[in-house]
Order: sequence, then C-alpha cells, then structure tokens
Amino acid sequence: MSKPAPLLVTGARLDGETIGLRCADDGTIAALGPDVLAAPGEEAFEAAGAILVPPLVNGHTHAAMTLFRGSGGDLPLMPWLEERIWPVEAKLEPDDVYWGARLACLEMTRSGTTRFWDMYWHPEATAQAVADAGLRATIGAPMFDRGGDPKVAQAEARESLEMLAAFGGPITAALAPHSIYMVGEESLAFLAELSAESGAPVQIHLSETKPEVDDCLGERGRRPAAYLDDLGLLSERTVLAHGVWLDDEELALIAARGATVVSNPAANMKLAVGKIFDWPSARAAEVQVGLGTDGAGSNDSLDLLTDLKLFALAQRHAAADATAISVNDAWEIATGAKAPALGATPLAVGEPADFLLLDPAVPELAIGEATADLVYAVDRTAVDTVVVAGKVLMRGGVQPERNEVVARARERASRLGL
Ligand SMILES: [Zn+2]
Repeated sequence: MSKPAPLLVTGARLDGETIGLRCADDGTIAALGPDVLAAPGEEAFEAAGAILVPPLVNGHTHAAMTLFRGSGGDLPLMPWLEERIWPVEAKLEPDDVYWGARLACLEMTRSGTTRFWDMYWHPEATAQAVADAGLRATIGAPMFDRGGDPKVAQAEARESLEMLAAFGGPITAALAPHSIYMVGEESLAFLAELSAESGAPVQIHLSETKPEVDDCLGERGRRPAAYLDDLGLLSERTVLAHGVWLDDEELALIAARGATVVSNPAANMKLAVGKIFDWPSARAAEVQVGLGTDGAGSNDSLDLLTDLKLFALAQRHAAADATAISVNDAWEIATGAKAPALGATPLAVGEPADFLLLDPAVPELAIGEATADLVYAVDRTAVDTVVVAGKVLMRGGVQPERNEVVARARERASRLGL
C-alpha cells in the first residue's frame, strides 16, 4: 500500500480570505494562502468556508483525573482529597491512567486543544495515550518528597525524565515538583540543576491559595516566587500553574526571568481560592501568560473554550473595568501565543500542521467579529475538524475511537470504585 498524499485543505477562510493549506510529508505546513489550490485531479479536503484557526494549548492539567470527574464535587478541598482522591490514587495502575488520559484526549480534541501540559502518576501511560490519540503534550512525573527520603525522590525524578524523553515525537519530557509545600528546598534546588543541565521544562503549582503564600512568608521570610528564584528554579523553562496571589514584585521577577504563568480560572473558582490571577498587572509587567483547565477533579471540564470565557469575564469583573482584557489578548492567551514556552503551533509555513476548522454555520459564529465570538459566544460545538501534524483527528465532529475509549475508561473507573 502506498503512503497517502499529504493533506491539502481548500476553501477555508482565514482573516476574511478564502485560502488553501498544504501539508508537507513531515507534518508541517508547506504552503498557506489564496494561491494554494488543488491541481487538476488532485484530492483535497474541501473546507466549504470553514474558519481556519490555530488550536488551543492547555497549559496545566492532570489528564487522567477524568476518572474522578463528578466524584465528591460538593466536598471542601481537604475532605475531598482525603476521602475521595488519595485513597483511590493509591490503587492506580498504568492502565487506569492510560484510559483516563485517552478520555481526556478525546475531550480536549473535540474542544480544540491539541497540546497540553500534564502532571500525573504513571506519566509513561499518559505519554502513550497522547501518542495513540495523535495529540502533543509536555509531561512530568509529579514529585512529592514530604515524609520521604529526598534522595529517593530525586533519583526517581531523574529516572522519569529520562524515560519520558525516550518517547520523543509528540512528547516533551518535563520535571514536575508538585508545589513548594509538598517538595522541600533541597529537592527544588536539585530540580533547578537538573533542568539547567537537561534543558527540561519545569511545571509547578505556585501561589494558588493565600495560606500557601502566608506559610512561605512565615517559614522562608519571602514570597513564593522569590523563594523559587533563590533556589534557581525561576527561568524561561519554568511554567507556574495558578499564580493567583502573586504580587507586583513577584510578577516583575517572573517577567525578568522569562518564566510563564498559567491561569486556571474554573479550577480556582471551583476550589474557591477567593481571588483571580491578575492579568492587567501581569500584562503591565510583561509576564508570559497561558491558560489551563487543571484536572477534571477540580474543574471538572477540560474544555478550554469554557475557561477562556471565564478567564475574560473574571478579569473584567475583578477589575471592575470592561477594558481589563481585549478579545485579541484573551484569544492569544488560549492559543499559547502569549507564552512561547508553552509550545504553541501558529499558522505559518514551516510550523507543525496543527489547526482547527470551525463550522461557519453555527449561530454563535454567524454574526460579529470572529475573535469576539470565539472568546464570548462560541462553545466546542463549533469545532468541526481537528488536524495535528497533517493528520485529521476529527471531522464533522466525529471521533472514530470515541465509543471504545469511553467504554474502556468507564471500566477502569468502576474498577476503582468511582
Ligand atoms: Zn493542578
């Protein structure tokens, strides 16, 4: 059997123009523009006026936590963790994580996300799920060393990094210390060195709640970002999830070091942290900012379009200022364009052929300025087609593997008593 020809899309709409997009054999964009047309007799994917947009980047999640969705959602944080999450996580097998992550990939694909940042147990199972689903991800093994031997945790972190790096392809290996309250000073300094030596990104929860900041001030005499910086862990490779309680000095420090902050508005509201990440101050400080869903345990959805609307609304509401965020900035935050470290895939020749085609006939996109519609009106039902590396993962909203993935994930959840 001969290899299929690289994908050619014709009749798509980009910035008000009808254009074509030709993929190369290596899964990148070979040509893009009004002159890209099918040759006589050449087979093309006719987009029929569908709107071409870059895909979304989910900058922070715990994919396999889809297994925990809808479980104990009305409990406060600590009883929820102690009664519903931790006892079940202790029983997790790689196959549980694999099918939970496949379910997450299904959900992210249909809501337009093609790359995500993940931190969860059995990360090799998540990596396999991402590769099988055709998406891209930056993945790290969560590191905790409280109550254990830091040297053992450090050896495990190095081993996981090497194992994830061996995946290659769509997987980027990362380090993932859980937080400054679950990982001690010695291990954080160790990870800073390992990151510098290997070039691996570091993802960490930071400044999610006020008690975390108060404890850091009490124990270390510094705020969380300054503490990380003193340990050498604030660099252009660092991605900070949450950043709700960062002050102006911390934002200036984060910007100076080139680190990224990923806001997770739905999870922050659901866990009732009492504040919202301050985009106007982050923008003024020139911090690189992305958007994430966090895990399905605390959101409970992985639909980044929902988080995008929440993020923009929350910024305007918290600032009591309808100009607190522009629709262009909001959209660029969701596609990763405001944080190059997140690995966004812009629509340009030579870039990966990752893109979405939106149904122009959905009522929410029919009228008005498209970017404003995308931020405030559109939901995932507008996502018609999803392409990653020139491969069509979904067309007409159809995901061929959906029924099997849902059935297998259900089996794993019921095995765990969820
Ligand atoms: Zn998280």
